[in-house]
Amino acid sequence: MVEDLDPFDIALKQLNKAAKVINLDKQALELLSSPKQILQVSIPVKMDNGETKVFTGFRVHYNTARGPGKGGIRFHPDETLSTVKALSAWMTWKTAITNLPLGGAKGGVICDPKKLSTGELERLSRGYIRAIAEFIGPEIDVPAPDVYTTPQIMAWMMDEYETIVRHSAPGIITGKPLETWGSLGRGDATARGGLFVLREAAKMRNIDLSKATIAIQGFGNAGQFAHKLVKELFGSKVVAISDTKTGIYSESGIDFEKLLEHKKKTGSVKDFPGTKNISNQELLELKVDVLIPAAIENQLTTANADKVKAKVILELANGPTTPDADEIFYKKNVLLLPDFLSNAGGVTVSYFEWVQNQTGDYWTEKEVYEKLDKKMTQATHDVLDASEKYKVDPRTAAYIVSIKRVADAMKLRGMY
Ligand code: GLU
Repeated sequence: MVEDLDPFDIALKQLNKAAKVINLDKQALELLSSPKQILQVSIPVKMDNGETKVFTGFRVHYNTARGPGKGGIRFHPDETLSTVKALSAWMTWKTAITNLPLGGAKGGVICDPKKLSTGELERLSRGYIRAIAEFIGPEIDVPAPDVYTTPQIMAWMMDEYETIVRHSAPGIITGKPLETWGSLGRGDATARGGLFVLREAAKMRNIDLSKATIAIQGFGNAGQFAHKLVKELFGSKVVAISDTKTGIYSESGIDFEKLLEHKKKTGSVKDFPGTKNISNQELLELKVDVLIPAAIENQLTTANADKVKAKVILELANGPTTPDADEIFYKKNVLLLPDFLSNAGGVTVSYFEWVQNQTGDYWTEKEVYEKLDKKMTQATHDVLDASEKYKVDPRTAAYIVSIKRVADAMKLRGMY
Protein backbone atom coordinates (compact mmCIF):
# COMPACT_ATOMS: atom_id res chain seq x y z
CA MET A 1 0.00 0.00 0.00
CA VAL A 2 1.29 3.48 -0.84
CA GLU A 3 1.87 5.55 2.28
CA ASP A 4 -0.33 8.65 2.63
CA LEU A 5 2.09 11.56 2.95
CA ASP A 6 -0.49 14.34 3.14
CA PRO A 7 0.60 16.32 6.25
CA PHE A 8 -2.87 17.03 7.60
CA ASP A 9 -3.98 13.40 7.10
CA ILE A 10 -0.88 12.41 9.09
CA ALA A 11 -1.69 14.92 11.85
CA LEU A 12 -5.23 13.50 12.14
CA LYS A 13 -3.99 9.92 12.13
CA GLN A 14 -1.65 10.72 15.05
CA LEU A 15 -4.44 12.53 16.92
CA ASN A 16 -6.93 9.69 16.46
CA LYS A 17 -4.45 7.10 17.65
CA ALA A 18 -3.91 8.96 20.95
CA ALA A 19 -7.59 9.85 21.36
CA LYS A 20 -8.45 6.14 21.15
CA VAL A 21 -6.00 5.21 23.92
CA ILE A 22 -7.59 7.62 26.39
CA ASN A 23 -11.10 7.23 25.02
CA LEU A 24 -11.34 10.98 24.42
CA ASP A 25 -14.83 12.50 24.41
CA LYS A 26 -16.30 12.36 20.87
CA GLN A 27 -17.14 16.06 20.79
CA ALA A 28 -13.71 17.05 22.05
CA LEU A 29 -12.16 14.94 19.30
CA GLU A 30 -14.39 16.56 16.70
CA LEU A 31 -13.31 20.03 17.87
CA LEU A 32 -9.65 19.01 17.83
CA SER A 33 -9.91 17.55 14.33
CA SER A 34 -10.23 20.79 12.35
CA PRO A 35 -8.85 24.33 12.49
CA LYS A 36 -10.79 27.11 14.17
CA GLN A 37 -10.21 29.54 11.27
CA ILE A 38 -8.39 29.59 7.93
CA LEU A 39 -7.38 32.72 6.02
CA GLN A 40 -6.07 32.61 2.45
CA VAL A 41 -4.70 35.80 0.92
CA SER A 42 -3.33 37.08 -2.41
CA ILE A 43 -0.31 39.34 -2.02
CA PRO A 44 0.63 41.65 -4.92
CA VAL A 45 4.35 42.41 -4.92
CA LYS A 46 6.17 44.88 -7.20
CA MET A 47 9.16 42.94 -8.52
CA ASP A 48 12.50 44.57 -9.37
CA ASN A 49 11.75 44.29 -13.11
CA GLY A 50 8.66 46.49 -12.73
CA GLU A 51 6.11 43.69 -13.02
CA THR A 52 3.64 42.84 -10.28
CA LYS A 53 3.60 39.23 -9.12
CA VAL A 54 0.78 37.85 -6.99
CA PHE A 55 1.76 35.43 -4.22
CA THR A 56 -0.61 33.19 -2.26
CA GLY A 57 -0.36 33.11 1.54
CA PHE A 58 -2.16 31.39 4.39
CA ARG A 59 -2.65 31.85 8.11
CA VAL A 60 -4.44 29.19 10.13
CA HIS A 61 -5.67 29.39 13.73
CA TYR A 62 -5.95 25.79 14.85
CA ASN A 63 -7.00 26.14 18.46
CA THR A 64 -7.03 29.08 20.88
CA ALA A 65 -8.66 27.50 23.95
CA ARG A 66 -5.42 27.87 25.96
CA GLY A 67 -4.49 31.35 24.70
CA PRO A 68 -3.62 33.41 21.61
CA GLY A 69 -2.57 31.52 18.49
CA LYS A 70 1.18 31.02 18.17
CA GLY A 71 3.30 29.70 15.33
CA GLY A 72 5.80 30.49 12.61
CA ILE A 73 5.56 31.63 9.02
CA ARG A 74 7.14 29.53 6.28
CA PHE A 75 8.28 30.91 2.93
CA HIS A 76 8.46 27.79 0.77
CA PRO A 77 7.93 27.00 -2.93
CA ASP A 78 6.00 23.80 -2.08
CA GLU A 79 3.81 25.33 0.63
CA THR A 80 0.25 23.97 0.73
CA LEU A 81 -2.79 24.65 2.87
CA SER A 82 -2.64 21.06 4.12
CA THR A 83 0.92 21.61 5.38
CA VAL A 84 -0.01 24.85 7.13
CA LYS A 85 -3.05 23.17 8.73
CA ALA A 86 -0.93 20.25 9.97
CA LEU A 87 1.72 22.61 11.31
CA SER A 88 -0.91 24.71 13.09
CA ALA A 89 -2.24 21.54 14.76
CA TRP A 90 1.29 20.58 15.82
CA MET A 91 1.76 24.11 17.24
CA THR A 92 -1.34 23.52 19.39
CA TRP A 93 0.16 20.34 20.84
CA LYS A 94 3.60 22.04 21.10
CA THR A 95 2.43 24.96 23.25
CA ALA A 96 0.38 22.56 25.36
CA ILE A 97 3.24 20.10 25.98
CA THR A 98 5.39 22.83 27.57
CA ASN A 99 2.31 24.24 29.29
CA LEU A 100 2.50 27.71 27.69
CA PRO A 101 -0.62 29.91 27.93
CA LEU A 102 -0.91 29.90 24.13
CA GLY A 103 -2.80 28.14 21.37
CA GLY A 104 -1.63 26.93 17.97
CA ALA A 105 -1.43 28.72 14.61
CA LYS A 106 0.76 28.74 11.51
CA GLY A 107 1.35 30.73 8.35
CA GLY A 108 2.91 30.19 4.97
CA VAL A 109 3.54 31.90 1.66
CA ILE A 110 4.12 29.99 -1.59
CA CYS A 111 7.39 31.50 -2.82
CA ASP A 112 11.03 30.68 -3.37
CA PRO A 113 12.95 33.15 -1.20
CA LYS A 114 16.23 32.04 -2.80
CA LYS A 115 15.00 33.61 -6.06
CA LEU A 116 13.92 36.94 -4.52
CA SER A 117 16.09 40.04 -4.10
CA THR A 118 16.27 41.61 -0.63
CA GLY A 119 13.89 44.36 -1.75
CA GLU A 120 11.37 41.85 -3.13
CA LEU A 121 11.60 39.80 0.06
CA GLU A 122 10.90 42.88 2.18
CA ARG A 123 7.92 43.91 0.02
CA LEU A 124 6.52 40.36 0.17
CA SER A 125 6.95 40.24 3.97
CA ARG A 126 5.22 43.59 4.42
CA GLY A 127 2.49 42.64 1.92
CA TYR A 128 1.77 39.42 3.81
CA ILE A 129 1.34 41.35 7.09
CA ARG A 130 -0.97 43.92 5.42
CA ALA A 131 -3.07 41.02 4.11
CA ILE A 132 -3.38 39.24 7.47
CA ALA A 133 -3.24 42.27 9.82
CA GLU A 134 -6.80 41.85 11.09
CA PHE A 135 -6.23 38.16 11.77
CA ILE A 136 -3.22 38.67 14.08
CA GLY A 137 -2.38 40.70 17.21
CA PRO A 138 -0.37 40.36 20.44
CA GLU A 139 -3.48 38.94 22.13
CA ILE A 140 -4.93 37.22 19.05
CA ASP A 141 -2.23 35.38 17.14
CA VAL A 142 1.53 35.90 17.33
CA PRO A 143 3.67 34.77 14.35
CA ALA A 144 7.38 33.85 14.40
CA PRO A 145 10.12 32.56 12.07
CA ASP A 146 10.12 29.12 10.46
CA VAL A 147 11.53 27.61 7.26
CA TYR A 148 13.28 30.39 5.25
CA THR A 149 12.05 33.28 7.41
CA THR A 150 14.56 35.18 9.53
CA PRO A 151 14.86 37.70 12.39
CA GLN A 152 15.25 40.46 9.74
CA ILE A 153 11.92 39.42 8.20
CA MET A 154 10.33 39.52 11.69
CA ALA A 155 11.60 43.11 12.12
CA TRP A 156 10.04 44.20 8.80
CA MET A 157 6.79 42.48 9.74
CA MET A 158 6.67 44.16 13.17
CA ASP A 159 7.34 47.53 11.54
CA GLU A 160 4.54 47.00 9.01
CA TYR A 161 2.10 45.96 11.73
CA GLU A 162 2.98 48.94 13.94
CA THR A 163 2.50 51.27 10.96
CA ILE A 164 -1.00 49.83 10.45
CA VAL A 165 -2.10 50.01 14.10
CA ARG A 166 -0.20 53.30 14.74
CA HIS A 167 1.35 52.29 18.05
CA SER A 168 4.26 50.27 19.33
CA ALA A 169 3.43 46.54 19.47
CA PRO A 170 6.59 44.44 19.80
CA GLY A 171 4.51 41.51 21.10
CA ILE A 172 2.95 41.11 17.63
CA ILE A 173 5.72 38.80 16.49
CA THR A 174 8.61 36.85 18.04
CA GLY A 175 12.03 35.78 16.84
CA LYS A 176 12.93 39.43 16.28
CA PRO A 177 16.51 40.75 16.31
CA LEU A 178 17.69 41.84 19.77
CA GLU A 179 17.81 45.49 18.67
CA THR A 180 14.07 45.44 18.02
CA TRP A 181 13.18 43.66 21.28
CA GLY A 182 13.86 40.06 20.50
CA SER A 183 14.87 37.84 23.43
CA LEU A 184 18.34 36.73 24.38
CA GLY A 185 18.62 33.00 23.75
CA ARG A 186 16.00 32.87 20.94
CA GLY A 187 18.56 32.23 18.17
CA ASP A 188 19.59 28.76 19.29
CA ALA A 189 16.48 27.99 21.37
CA THR A 190 15.08 25.19 19.19
CA ALA A 191 18.36 23.26 19.22
CA ARG A 192 19.13 24.01 22.88
CA GLY A 193 15.63 22.97 23.98
CA GLY A 194 15.95 19.77 21.93
CA LEU A 195 19.26 18.93 23.54
CA PHE A 196 17.70 19.36 27.00
CA VAL A 197 15.09 16.80 25.90
CA LEU A 198 17.86 14.50 24.67
CA ARG A 199 19.77 14.91 27.95
CA GLU A 200 16.73 13.98 30.06
CA ALA A 201 15.79 11.04 27.83
CA ALA A 202 19.39 9.78 27.90
CA LYS A 203 19.38 9.95 31.71
CA MET A 204 16.12 8.01 31.89
CA ARG A 205 17.46 5.37 29.44
CA ASN A 206 21.07 5.20 30.72
CA ILE A 207 22.70 6.49 27.54
CA ASP A 208 26.12 8.16 27.90
CA LEU A 209 25.99 11.18 25.59
CA SER A 210 29.67 12.08 26.05
CA LYS A 211 30.51 8.99 23.97
CA ALA A 212 27.67 9.31 21.48
CA THR A 213 27.99 9.73 17.71
CA ILE A 214 25.44 11.99 16.06
CA ALA A 215 24.13 12.56 12.52
CA ILE A 216 22.18 15.72 11.73
CA GLN A 217 19.98 16.15 8.66
CA GLY A 218 19.61 19.84 7.84
CA PHE A 219 21.76 22.94 8.08
CA GLY A 220 19.11 25.54 8.89
CA ASN A 221 18.68 27.25 12.25
CA ALA A 222 17.94 24.03 14.18
CA GLY A 223 20.57 21.83 12.52
CA GLN A 224 23.40 24.35 12.71
CA PHE A 225 22.89 25.16 16.36
CA ALA A 226 22.45 21.48 17.24
CA HIS A 227 25.86 20.88 15.64
CA LYS A 228 27.38 23.73 17.63
CA LEU A 229 25.80 22.83 20.97
CA VAL A 230 26.15 19.03 21.24
CA LYS A 231 29.88 19.37 21.71
CA GLU A 232 29.48 22.26 24.17
CA LEU A 233 26.76 20.59 26.26
CA PHE A 234 27.69 16.89 26.12
CA GLY A 235 31.01 16.49 24.31
CA SER A 236 29.37 14.19 21.73
CA LYS A 237 30.71 13.89 18.19
CA VAL A 238 28.82 14.98 15.09
CA VAL A 239 29.98 12.55 12.37
CA ALA A 240 27.55 13.58 9.63
CA ILE A 241 25.54 16.62 8.60
CA SER A 242 23.71 17.66 5.44
CA ASP A 243 22.12 20.61 3.67
CA THR A 244 19.57 20.56 0.84
CA LYS A 245 22.27 19.73 -1.71
CA THR A 246 24.27 16.96 -0.03
CA GLY A 247 25.54 15.32 3.14
CA ILE A 248 29.06 14.88 4.50
CA TYR A 249 30.55 12.20 6.75
CA SER A 250 33.69 11.87 8.83
CA GLU A 251 34.26 9.14 11.39
CA SER A 252 36.50 11.40 13.46
CA GLY A 253 33.90 14.17 13.71
CA ILE A 254 33.11 17.45 11.92
CA ASP A 255 34.28 20.79 13.29
CA PHE A 256 31.43 23.30 13.52
CA GLU A 257 33.31 26.60 13.08
CA LYS A 258 35.33 25.39 10.10
CA LEU A 259 32.28 23.92 8.41
CA LEU A 260 30.38 27.18 8.88
CA GLU A 261 33.22 29.05 7.19
CA HIS A 262 33.23 26.53 4.31
CA LYS A 263 29.45 26.84 3.90
CA LYS A 264 29.68 30.65 3.83
CA LYS A 265 32.43 30.51 1.22
CA THR A 266 31.04 27.83 -1.09
CA GLY A 267 27.30 27.96 -0.39
CA SER A 268 27.18 24.27 0.57
CA VAL A 269 28.61 21.73 3.02
CA LYS A 270 29.74 19.69 -0.03
CA ASP A 271 33.44 18.83 -0.40
CA PHE A 272 34.32 19.95 3.14
CA PRO A 273 37.97 18.91 3.59
CA GLY A 274 38.46 15.71 5.61
CA THR A 275 34.93 14.44 4.94
CA LYS A 276 33.29 12.20 2.36
CA ASN A 277 30.22 13.42 0.43
CA ILE A 278 27.14 11.27 1.08
CA SER A 279 23.48 11.56 0.09
CA ASN A 280 20.75 12.67 2.49
CA GLN A 281 19.39 9.09 2.33
CA GLU A 282 22.74 7.62 3.34
CA LEU A 283 22.94 10.05 6.25
CA LEU A 284 19.61 8.85 7.64
CA GLU A 285 20.77 5.23 7.53
CA LEU A 286 24.21 5.69 9.16
CA LYS A 287 25.27 3.61 12.15
CA VAL A 288 25.17 6.36 14.80
CA ASP A 289 23.81 6.61 18.33
CA VAL A 290 21.60 9.64 17.74
CA LEU A 291 19.93 10.79 14.52
CA ILE A 292 18.62 14.36 14.42
CA PRO A 293 16.26 15.10 11.52
CA ALA A 294 16.32 18.91 11.42
CA ALA A 295 15.12 19.63 7.90
CA ILE A 296 11.56 19.12 6.66
CA GLU A 297 8.64 16.72 6.86
CA ASN A 298 8.33 13.10 5.61
CA GLN A 299 12.00 12.11 5.70
CA LEU A 300 11.60 8.87 7.68
CA THR A 301 9.01 6.69 5.95
CA THR A 302 8.32 3.00 5.30
CA ALA A 303 10.90 3.30 2.50
CA ASN A 304 13.81 3.73 4.93
CA ALA A 305 12.66 3.21 8.56
CA ASP A 306 13.82 -0.42 8.55
CA LYS A 307 17.30 0.66 7.51
CA VAL A 308 17.74 3.33 10.22
CA LYS A 309 20.39 2.19 12.71
CA ALA A 310 20.29 5.02 15.28
CA LYS A 311 19.20 4.14 18.82
CA VAL A 312 17.64 7.54 19.49
CA ILE A 313 15.90 9.93 17.07
CA LEU A 314 15.57 13.54 18.17
CA GLU A 315 13.11 15.24 15.82
CA LEU A 316 14.05 18.90 15.53
CA ALA A 317 12.14 19.27 12.24
CA ASN A 318 8.36 19.36 12.18
CA GLY A 319 6.80 16.11 10.93
CA PRO A 320 9.92 14.24 9.73
CA THR A 321 8.44 10.78 10.50
CA THR A 322 5.30 9.19 9.04
CA PRO A 323 2.89 7.20 11.27
CA ASP A 324 3.89 3.87 9.65
CA ALA A 325 7.58 4.63 10.23
CA ASP A 326 6.68 5.47 13.85
CA GLU A 327 5.34 1.92 14.29
CA ILE A 328 8.51 0.43 12.84
CA PHE A 329 10.72 2.45 15.22
CA TYR A 330 8.61 1.53 18.25
CA LYS A 331 8.84 -2.18 17.35
CA LYS A 332 12.61 -1.86 16.82
CA ASN A 333 12.93 -0.24 20.26
CA VAL A 334 14.31 2.99 18.77
CA LEU A 335 13.63 5.83 21.19
CA LEU A 336 11.94 8.48 19.05
CA LEU A 337 11.64 11.87 20.75
CA PRO A 338 8.75 13.43 18.86
CA ASP A 339 8.85 16.79 17.09
CA PHE A 340 6.40 18.81 19.11
CA LEU A 341 8.30 17.91 22.28
CA SER A 342 11.83 18.01 20.87
CA ASN A 343 11.54 21.27 18.95
CA ALA A 344 9.34 23.11 21.47
CA GLY A 345 12.34 25.14 22.66
CA GLY A 346 11.81 27.63 19.84
CA VAL A 347 8.27 28.49 20.76
CA THR A 348 9.10 28.38 24.46
CA VAL A 349 11.67 31.17 24.11
CA SER A 350 9.24 32.90 21.73
CA TYR A 351 6.80 32.87 24.62
CA PHE A 352 9.52 34.34 26.88
CA GLU A 353 10.09 37.04 24.25
CA TRP A 354 6.38 37.82 24.14
CA VAL A 355 6.20 38.02 27.96
CA GLN A 356 9.18 40.43 27.96
CA ASN A 357 7.56 42.53 25.20
CA GLN A 358 4.20 42.68 26.98
CA THR A 359 5.72 43.63 30.35
CA GLY A 360 8.73 45.70 29.22
CA ASP A 361 10.93 43.75 31.65
CA TYR A 362 13.91 42.13 29.90
CA TRP A 363 15.80 39.03 31.12
CA THR A 364 19.45 37.90 30.99
CA GLU A 365 20.59 35.01 28.81
CA LYS A 366 21.17 32.94 31.94
CA GLU A 367 17.57 33.49 33.06
CA VAL A 368 16.28 32.46 29.64
CA TYR A 369 18.37 29.27 29.55
CA GLU A 370 17.33 28.29 33.08
CA LYS A 371 13.65 28.86 32.39
CA LEU A 372 13.95 26.96 29.10
CA ASP A 373 15.70 24.05 30.80
CA LYS A 374 12.95 23.83 33.40
CA LYS A 375 10.18 23.81 30.78
CA MET A 376 11.86 21.22 28.53
CA THR A 377 12.84 18.95 31.44
CA GLN A 378 9.30 18.92 32.80
CA ALA A 379 7.81 18.28 29.35
CA THR A 380 10.20 15.38 28.66
CA HIS A 381 9.34 13.72 31.95
CA ASP A 382 5.60 14.26 31.34
CA VAL A 383 5.92 12.54 27.95
CA LEU A 384 8.16 9.62 28.91
CA ASP A 385 6.12 8.99 32.08
CA ALA A 386 2.93 8.90 29.98
CA SER A 387 4.66 6.56 27.52
CA GLU A 388 5.28 4.11 30.35
CA LYS A 389 1.90 4.59 31.96
CA TYR A 390 -0.13 4.01 28.79
CA LYS A 391 2.41 1.64 27.17
CA VAL A 392 2.52 3.65 23.97
CA ASP A 393 5.26 5.20 21.82
CA PRO A 394 6.49 8.65 22.95
CA ARG A 395 4.66 10.47 20.14
CA THR A 396 1.32 9.01 21.16
CA ALA A 397 2.22 9.74 24.80
CA ALA A 398 2.99 13.38 23.93
CA TYR A 399 -0.36 13.62 22.15
CA ILE A 400 -2.11 12.20 25.21
CA VAL A 401 -0.56 14.83 27.50
CA SER A 402 -1.28 17.71 25.10
CA ILE A 403 -4.77 16.83 23.94
CA LYS A 404 -5.88 16.30 27.53
CA ARG A 405 -4.69 19.82 28.39
CA VAL A 406 -6.43 21.38 25.38
CA ALA A 407 -9.60 19.31 25.85
CA ASP A 408 -9.77 20.29 29.54
CA ALA A 409 -9.53 23.99 28.63
CA MET A 410 -12.28 23.60 26.02
CA LYS A 411 -14.47 21.74 28.50
CA LEU A 412 -14.07 24.41 31.21
CA ARG A 413 -14.85 27.12 28.67
CA GLY A 414 -18.07 25.26 27.89
CA MET A 415 -17.13 24.44 24.30
CA TYR A 416 -18.45 20.89 24.70
N1 GLU B 1 8.47 27.96 13.97
C1 GLU B 1 8.81 27.43 15.25
C2 GLU B 1 8.05 26.16 15.53
O1 GLU B 1 7.62 25.46 14.64
C3 GLU B 1 8.62 28.48 16.34
C4 GLU B 1 7.24 28.98 16.48
C5 GLU B 1 7.14 30.18 17.41
O2 GLU B 1 8.16 30.56 17.94
O3 GLU B 1 6.04 30.68 17.56
O4 GLU B 1 7.95 25.75 16.65
